Amino acid sequence: MAKELTAYEITCRLSDELGIDRHTNLLAHGLSAALGPVQGDAETVKSAVLDAAGTVVMPAFTYQTQIIPQTGPPDNALDYGTGDEMNARADIYRPSLPVHPDIGLIAEAFRNDPKTLRSIHPVLSFIAQGPNARAVLSSQTRENPLGPVAWLEMHDGLLLLMGVDQRHNYALHLAEQRAGRKTFTRWALTIDDIEELPNMPGCRDGFNAIWRELTPITRVAQIGMARCEVIPIKPLLEYAEQRIREEPDFLLCDQPGCLSCRTREVSPRL
Ligand SMILES: [Zn+2]
Repeated sequence: MAKELTAYEITCRLSDELGIDRHTNLLAHGLSAALGPVQGDAETVKSAVLDAAGTVVMPAFTYQTQIIPQTGPPDNALDYGTGDEMNARADIYRPSLPVHPDIGLIAEAFRNDPKTLRSIHPVLSFIAQGPNARAVLSSQTRENPLGPVAWLEMHDGLLLLMGVDQRHNYALHLAEQRAGRKTFTRWALTIDDIEELPNMPGCRDGFNAIWRELTPITRVAQIGMARCEVIPIKPLLEYAEQRIREEPDFLLCDQPGCLSCRTREVSPRL
């Protein structure tokens, strides 16, 4: 059986090989299962990331709060009226709502930490700890769900991906918006309302198209069984925005049935 990784070993790799230090503003996303056996599982990975960095931010998205209304704006990549089953199962957003299972156990362990703060977006909330936690989280509004990514860009933030590929690089959504790509309106259940949420990003399934192109600005380390990457957010956003401006369908997926990508493509595929 493979040796279990310890928090100390993970912290050392993040510091020595990926260049994360106690001043780093870090946007982190990873799946603990990808690392292989870890002593203490996701809780340990969370602690190791917190020990390595200064301010740590993670997505704590709650897709399970979304509902599909009967009608809404056109070209919004939704089949209105088809959500009855999903709507009946939707969760009401509250600060204690667990992150969606797709976001993973590291983020859920981080959310459960009593020192963690959470922003208030009912679908795309972020969680944070560290000296800049309040500042980065308060940059998010209903109208500007990706505010924390822009905050991190302005404060020399780094993106850490642990055992996940570019389809989990949520920062790329900001590059899409800046390049003029259409965003969507979505709806979510909150305690006293159904909230309409503007400027919501679309599909991420095509994001791996940028993976190799980011090699010059990416640091890579193997931690346990996971390939881990650190990418500085500012050049990442500049490069991705420029690429989408040059090639308007860049990063869209090729699934014929993907309403999100097919709604936004400039050169429709046959
Ligand atoms: Zn798609």
